[in-house]
This record gives sequence, C-alpha cells and structure tokens, in this order.
Amino acid sequence: MKLSFVDLKAQYDSIKEEVNQAMQNVIQDSAFIGGRYLKTFEQNFANYIGAQHCIGVANGTDALFIALKCLGIKEGDEVITVANSFIATSESITATGARVVFVDPDEKTYNIDVQKIEKSLTKKTKAIIPVHLYGQPADMDKVLEIAQNHNLYVIEDAAQAHGAQYKGKNIGTFGDCACFSFFPGKNLGAYGDAGAITTNNDEIANKIRMFANHGRMEKYNHEFEGINSRLDGLQAAILDVKLKHLEKWTERRRNIAKMYDEGLKNVVITPHNQNNVRHVYHLYVIKTKNREKVKNFLEGKGVSTGIHYPIPLPLLKAYSHLGYKPTDFPVSYKLKEEILSLPIHGDMSDEQVGYVIEQLRYGAKQIV
Ligand SMILES: *Cc1c(COP(=O)(O)O)cnc(C)c1O
Repeated sequence: MKLSFVDLKAQYDSIKEEVNQAMQNVIQDSAFIGGRYLKTFEQNFANYIGAQHCIGVANGTDALFIALKCLGIKEGDEVITVANSFIATSESITATGARVVFVDPDEKTYNIDVQKIEKSLTKKTKAIIPVHLYGQPADMDKVLEIAQNHNLYVIEDAAQAHGAQYKGKNIGTFGDCACFSFFPGKNLGAYGDAGAITTNNDEIANKIRMFANHGRMEKYNHEFEGINSRLDGLQAAILDVKLKHLEKWTERRRNIAKMYDEGLKNVVITPHNQNNVRHVYHLYVIKTKNREKVKNFLEGKGVSTGIHYPIPLPLLKAYSHLGYKPTDFPVSYKLKEEILSLPIHGDMSDEQVGYVIEQLRYGAKQIV
C-alpha cells in the first residue's frame, strides 16, 4: 500500500463539480478581487466560527502580521509565543519590529506552557500569541487570565485549528484577533495561498480591512499606508464550497484519531486527550523513543510521515542572534527527537488507517 501524508487529489475528486462550477462563476463575473464571492465566504466563515467579523487576507502569515500591526505592536515591544510552532508565528512578530519571546510548550499537550508565561513577561510585553498546535486548543482560560492581569493583547494562531473548540466555544473567538491559514494542506485549504482574521471588535476589524487593502475603504482615498494582502475571489469561492464539507471532514479526522488512539495505545505515546476541547487533528502526532527507526520503517512500508517540527523555533539559524541554548527549551528540545506525524485527512479509508496501525504494531516488535 502507498499512503501519502495528505491527499488533495482525492478530496478534489469528491467535490469536483461543485468546485469547477464555483470557479466558473467567479470567472464569468470577473469577480477576481473583492466582490460577492469574497463577501459570501467571509460571512459564512464568520458564522461558522461564531465571530462578528472575518476579513480575508492573502495567507496565514500575513494574517498574523496584519493583526499585530493593527493592534499597534511595534519596535520596542515584546510578544510572547511558543517555541514549538511553524516559523510564520514568530516571523510575523519580528516583521512588526517587535521582539519575539519564546516559551517552552507543555510536555503533554505540546501547546504553550501557561505556567511559564508569567516568567517571560517584562514591561515591554504587549501581546501573547498562543498557537492551537496540531488542531488542539491551547489553555485559553489561563492565557486570557494572564493577558487580563497584565493588559496584553491575545492573538490566536488558529492556522491548524479550524472548527476546534475550547470548553464548547469555537477557537477564533477568544483573542482580540484570531488568524487562520487556508494553505492547501490545512484542514480548510484553498487552491493556493489564502488566510483570514476573525475578531469581535468592530474598530479593529475596520482597521484590518483597510490595512490589508492599502489603508483604504474607498478607491484612492487612502487614510494611512497599508499593504496589499487580499483573499482573491477564486480562492474565496473554492473555500466557500469546501467550508460546507468541513464538519464532515473534521468528524472523519476525529474518527481516524480514535482508531489510532485505540490501535496504538500500547505501542507508542498517542496524543494527550484533554477534556473540554474539540481537537480537530490537523496533525496526529505520536511520540516514540525510536522515532528515526519508526519513521524509516513506515517509509519502507509505503507510509509517508512528517515531523512537526524538527527544530524548535528559538534554535533555528534564523534566531541564532537571540543566543538561545537547547537547555533554555528542554521540552521542545526533547520533543523534536521523539515526535512523528502520521497520515490523517478526511479522505482516508478505514483500510488505510488499519494498515498504518498494523505496520506500527508489527514494526514495534522489530524495532527495539
Ligand atoms: C500554516 C501556518 C501558518 C502560516 O500560514 P500560511 O498560510 O502558510 O502563511 C502560521 N502558523 C501556523 C501554526 C501554521 O501551521
């Protein structure tokens, strides 16, 4: 059996007619920039999340940058985020001129360790970016409590968490802003780069909408300098089609995760299931001491896997000037050697899931 990590072709085949029609409509109407398809998607995504506003932007990295800029983050400020994430999270902080301050994740959930946030606060701290990593919500009660006590903004990095919930409430409604990516491989993915910001704050929403569109509401009437970071009509129309299928795909991911949980519980360390959250399993990440051997064994059996992420952010060459050492981030440093992401997506069959489980169970006996 040959099992790819994600299968966007299988997904397309299952919604081909709807997608093709949606693209045709946009082209017929020449609604490429702005227009009704964008408006419809923004409204539908805001409704899905349960947020007042959704503003489409060019990608998830821009979403973070724009949110930070519109909250006034600038040079001289510090922003706290987690050491174990994709570089977009920290890159966007640096792009505003602010300094990124990394916090180690929790050993069990792999999300930001809320016990360690307060130790990282200084007079310059202006915001926290919790990442809902792998599709599992961060501990938002504690993050919001710290933010409130210290007068900080909260920007959710929800790039991996479309439809995730924390205590019955949707991710994307907790922070001052939440940033989504619609990169093709994300739980809700476009056919190119795309992203969005959700917020319940009218004023910030307005500012974001203008900033992402050259600082204007009306053509040529620029109130301030912004950037060009727009979600285009074609991507919006495609996303709107896919949004209708998202719950079904998410339930399938959760279903697959349950099968993995059961089948692998005595073989590897399966993801920690927290009460009170709806994990949407953008990634299903196991932990094993023999990660390289297990990875190679699975590759040999035709099963593609991934490592998210192989180098903790503060230890990347890109951040060598910050002078961090592995001992500053002991949890991330240990995690990077042990984590392995198994294939999981809405179009995986029971047979395929069973095959991965079988190979891992069999492989575990070979690899000591
Ligand atoms: C994908 C991702 C982003 C960036 O999204 P892009 O659309 O690729 O720019 C940001 N943060 C996290 C955690 C991500 O996984």
